[in-house]
Amino acid sequence: MIKTDIFLPIGYTSADIENKICEKLPVRRSEIKSTVIISKELRLDGDIGYKLSVGVAFCEEREAGLLKMKKKVFAMPELSLTVREADKRISPVVVGAGPAGLFCALVLAEAGLKPLVIERGESVEKREQTVKRFFTDANLNTESNVQFGEGGAGAFSDGKLKYGLINKYKYKVLKEFVHAGASEDILWTKGAHLGTDKLPSIVHHIREKIIALGGSFSFNTKLSDVLIKGGKVYAVKVEREGRTEEIETDAVFLAIGHSARDTIEMLYSKGLSMEAKGFGIGMRIEHPREYINSLIYKDKVSESEVGAASYHLVSHLPSGRSVYSFCMCPGGTVVAASGEAGGICTNGMSEYKRDADNSNSALLVSVSPSDFGSEHPLAGIRLQREIERAAYRTSGNSYAAPAIRLSEFLSGGVSSELGSVRPSYPIGTVAARPENYLPSYITDSLKEGIASFDDWLGGFAYPDAVLTGAEARSTSPVRILRREDFSALGTEGLYPIGEGGGYAGGIVSAATDGLCAALTVMGQNE
Ligand SMILES: Cc1cc2nc3c(=O)[nH]c(=O)nc-3n(C[C@H](O)[C@H](O)[C@H](O)COP(=O)(O)OP(=O)(O)OC[C@H]3O[C@@H](n4cnc5c(N)ncnc54)[C@H](O)[C@@H]3O)c2cc1C
Repeated sequence: MIKTDIFLPIGYTSADIENKICEKLPVRRSEIKSTVIISKELRLDGDIGYKLSVGVAFCEEREAGLLKMKKKVFAMPELSLTVREADKRISPVVVGAGPAGLFCALVLAEAGLKPLVIERGESVEKREQTVKRFFTDANLNTESNVQFGEGGAGAFSDGKLKYGLINKYKYKVLKEFVHAGASEDILWTKGAHLGTDKLPSIVHHIREKIIALGGSFSFNTKLSDVLIKGGKVYAVKVEREGRTEEIETDAVFLAIGHSARDTIEMLYSKGLSMEAKGFGIGMRIEHPREYINSLIYKDKVSESEVGAASYHLVSHLPSGRSVYSFCMCPGGTVVAASGEAGGICTNGMSEYKRDADNSNSALLVSVSPSDFGSEHPLAGIRLQREIERAAYRTSGNSYAAPAIRLSEFLSGGVSSELGSVRPSYPIGTVAARPENYLPSYITDSLKEGIASFDDWLGGFAYPDAVLTGAEARSTSPVRILRREDFSALGTEGLYPIGEGGGYAGGIVSAATDGLCAALTVMGQNE
């Protein structure tokens, strides 16, 4: 198969794909054996339509000739991944059932090992109920919430699948999502999403597959210690139903996510090498969905043709900081994503249809270890905590979130009335200025960033847009140092993976990291 890029209008048919290939390349339709779409991206600049990367099969000789047409024809990326029976007999424990842990366990189980997945939160079915209760009665379960529980941090999300160029690892992740019930077009659509309404069932199916292959799960089970002798792991301690148990293991995959602050502190106290890393701090912004559609689509296309509009905005300020939109949720809602008592943390989610009244995204300012006020590797966690607690205090010690109209944020002052955009944060909002809980370098940078977004996307500074905060968990503020073989520096058998290790930023990258760690530890990542 060879790969080539073509451009087609919205509403194209499969016959159009072959015709376009024949227009672009010196080939006849009868020579084409098959085609497969590798990626599909909506283009709104210039001609409106989709840029498609297509794999096309011809006979071998023809393909060899076509591959000489550089710039028009490319080698097809290898997309099939074979997991072989493991030679090494290890007894793996996977800590955390987010994307990194689930895909790590899946590959271990496919290789014939029997991974035990321990997860501090509940199964995704029970967790769904617990999260719904928090949204209605503001009673936070610190072990099972939007951050913790089966499915991990992304279970209550838009389920956006962001990745750069496809490869066999990412393709395996996408394929598994499809086997578990996701729509097939996620295999090629750039910016595809799973939808928060579909995620619990997808996660459930992946769990069932791991169990069918010989793996097992223990929910409400928290890793409390890692036992190491002579630089090598030999067991873990876990807390389950008020009891502490020891589990023997020679391979611990730490897929704990970026919010397991207590676990990271425990690991630091065990002497694991860590370093602080940058992340983003800011607030969620909400506009009416149809308003964002009109800013982005103008009259070129409609939501019914291509779905609700999304944006990605970045502004590099003269101060050296960047302001950027993050985790945009078209037709979605703002989520109460607290994980620690007495702290407020916002995030966003959308259902598959993306048809809620508002479209939201986080507006974040980049922060680096030099902002943390200390050289301690965990200083970024302290900064996040301070901000989340200050937001909670600002709301009168409640999980209702501080919110403000955009026009007031920009002009000064705050009134108790919000405008026409109703904030979707489920526990309610309290009118307050963000200066009460965010450092001035964040609020000042946000004002500059919003002005430049408005220059670029005329109308972004919609006066009635609502800003709700605080959002301080874009990604992990710490990295657990590891070697190329995925083992933590100086500790054999301990493998920090995914977002919590500091090696991923999103569902696909966390899942891919987990999967690659499993292959590497089994000696199969060639
Ligand atoms: C509301 C929300 C929306 C998001 N939307 C998107 C999106 O649309 N697209 C995207 O790509 N990314 C999104 N993200 C980010 C994405 O969810 C994360 O990047 C991803 O989940 C990281 O995967 P992970 O497996 O490394 O960690 P996590 O998903 O955080 O999973 C870690 C798991 O480990 C468990 N755990 C932690 N400590 C322990 C312990 N001591 N013992 C046992 N278990 C433990 C936790 O309970 C958790 O289930 C979103 C995040 C949130 C919170």
